[in-house]
Amino acid sequence: MNDPRVLREARSRSLVPTRRPHYVGATVPAAALEPDDAAAAEVPRLQTVGLRKSYRKGQVTIPVLNGVNVEVREGEFLAVIGASGSGKSTLLHLLGTLDSPDAGEIRFDGCRVDNLPARRRDILRNRAFGMIFQFYHLLPEFTTLENVLAPLMIADGVVGYLRRRRRYADAAKELLATMGLSHRLKHRPRELSGGEMQRAAIARALVMGPQVLLADEPTGNLDRAAGRDILRILRTLNHQQKLTIVMVTHDLGNAEEADRIVRICEGRIEKV
Ligand code: ADP
Ligand code: MG
Repeated sequence: MNDPRVLREARSRSLVPTRRPHYVGATVPAAALEPDDAAAAEVPRLQTVGLRKSYRKGQVTIPVLNGVNVEVREGEFLAVIGASGSGKSTLLHLLGTLDSPDAGEIRFDGCRVDNLPARRRDILRNRAFGMIFQFYHLLPEFTTLENVLAPLMIADGVVGYLRRRRRYADAAKELLATMGLSHRLKHRPRELSGGEMQRAAIARALVMGPQVLLADEPTGNLDRAAGRDILRILRTLNHQQKLTIVMVTHDLGNAEEADRIVRICEGRIEKV
């Protein structure tokens, strides 16, 4: 990876005009959202309380999470391990508000987010959470650059985006340069290697300057060298920029890159 200072600079640049995020519910104590508030420093960046989730298949109910309590501190890199089918992706999707729990709460900076209206959750996901997945989930018809610009288009609306598109494109290109992808700006995902697709997905996840990066088996589809490269990028983002990361993986070797490891077993969190 290139110079981490460039990465830091690109990420810290305010790309979208800064507004207080709209995901805050009216009942939320404002103090919990001030980053330099001493009280807020003790509040976990992300926390689940008694999280439960089961899936229904016809008449059968499959319990997956049976009361998950986990905390992620600001600036922490947490790895969640567990066997295949243990509920790792389910947990990550719940943390990222892609799905709703049956019971329990998810708190982001002390504010409950699992029960927000859909529109507020969309904004939260767009601005506060970056996500990467085993199969990248890049938009196949978009170029690498357009994929990274997509969250800015969503955040700013067509008019705002068009007004600022040059600045946005410059910033997205700079971010892609830090991922070693300057020579792939106009390529579509099918023209990229797995490692390149994941680096593009990381750039897309970072472009809004998220508070948390959620990674679901980010090296699961990569060869060893490309996988190591992705883990090195995640570790650099965590060390250099204090980015909070939650990575789920079935691979203990990958998990050892993190500050702390927990395991999902029988629907609950265990210390490792
Ligand atoms: P992991 O990521 O640890 O492999 P998942 O969270 O994907 O596990 O899945 C946990 C369990 O829930 C598995 O038994 C899986 O088959 C089931 N499951 C996951 N998603 C669904 C769904 N949308 N509908 C029904 N069952 C599901
Ligand atoms: Mg999974």
